[in-house]
Amino acid sequence: MEKFNIAPVLELPGVGENFQDHISVSVGAELSGQHITAENMQDPTFAEEQLLLYRESKSGMLSSTPSTFVFIPAADFIPADVLQGMIAALDEALSAPLFKESPWQSIYEMQRSWLKNNSVAQLEIVLFPAYETSEADHNEASQHYSLMVFPQHCWNCGSVHLESSSGLDPPAIDYQILNSPGDFDLLLLVYAIRYAFKIMQTGSLGAETSRILEPLPTWTDDQLKDYVRKKVNSAWHPVGTASMLPLSNNGVVDENLKVDASIIPVHVGTHPQATLYGIAHRAAQIIEASDVPENKSAGEEDHGKGCCDIA
Ligand SMILES: Cc1cc2nc3c(=O)[nH]c(=O)nc-3n(C[C@H](O)[C@H](O)[C@H](O)COP(=O)(O)OP(=O)(O)OC[C@H]3O[C@@H](n4cnc5c(N)ncnc54)[C@H](O)[C@@H]3O)c2cc1C
Repeated sequence: MEKFNIAPVLELPGVGENFQDHISVSVGAELSGQHITAENMQDPTFAEEQLLLYRESKSGMLSSTPSTFVFIPAADFIPADVLQGMIAALDEALSAPLFKESPWQSIYEMQRSWLKNNSVAQLEIVLFPAYETSEADHNEASQHYSLMVFPQHCWNCGSVHLESSSGLDPPAIDYQILNSPGDFDLLLLVYAIRYAFKIMQTGSLGAETSRILEPLPTWTDDQLKDYVRKKVNSAWHPVGTASMLPLSNNGVVDENLKVDASIIPVHVGTHPQATLYGIAHRAAQIIEASDVPENKSAGEEDHGKGCCDIA
């Protein structure tokens, strides 16, 4: 802030740090037989019909959303020996002073413990009714679908900081996408894609899949890694840059909230909106009870108690 001549009111080094997000990669396939997919919405007559259906009866394609297939722990989609190797590489990377002496150390410990906890989902797989990437050679006349794989607890940790003193300028977002200790996120995505191939080749969905387009089940791990590096994208779920944590853990806000999704210190294993409604409900209670003294800045007096003491 001083760089832009803004005098800090309170020294809080955690502000803008600990940027976390869900990321995703898609696997596309061609369907056999006749289906209606989101690709039909390219036809203006069909799109108009769907709009009318929605307006009249809240039904039709516009009343649906992409459906989540599964939320699964690491052990469900990564072979045991591979997972063991990945965790060993992660542990080695985490033993470096950069991580060992980091104020976020307790977050790393929590995330590390989740890898062996089969009640914590590490991966979500969503079915999207269209060919999401549309780059591989494919038949425009056919219908397609994609399976999108979303790691839930990535190890990359970025930042969001000011670019100028104007609130109208966009901030500098340093995503650090895939920059994870021991290359954990990249490897997890390779096995997530391999698991998606399995779903696409099994049971009812397998019977409706005429061919997988890109990436391909025959690709080596290195080819899949290249594909991930090229295609990985945000899942638009950023959190963490004003963490509700004790000051000693680089916390920014106390339990009286003050801000938005950025207070979530460790990413949730689901889409964030429902959690946000819970946080907003709590904020409404705080405002109604008027127990927040006016002008009391985050971090003052009672900061340090934190509501989620993970230390
Ligand atoms: C394309 C997309 C798809 C998504 N899909 C899903 C989904 O399917 N399920 C799900 O759970 N989540 C989804 N999310 C994530 C979810 O929308 C966000 O996590 C959630 O909206 C974050 O809530 P928030 O209150 O933190 O911030 P926001 O919802 O962004 O609210 C912040 C508000 O603050 C206002 N504001 C900003 N600056 C100022 C200012 N200076 N003064 C006054 N007001 C200000 C903004 O106008 C905005 O209204 C999606 C996000 C995107 C972008």
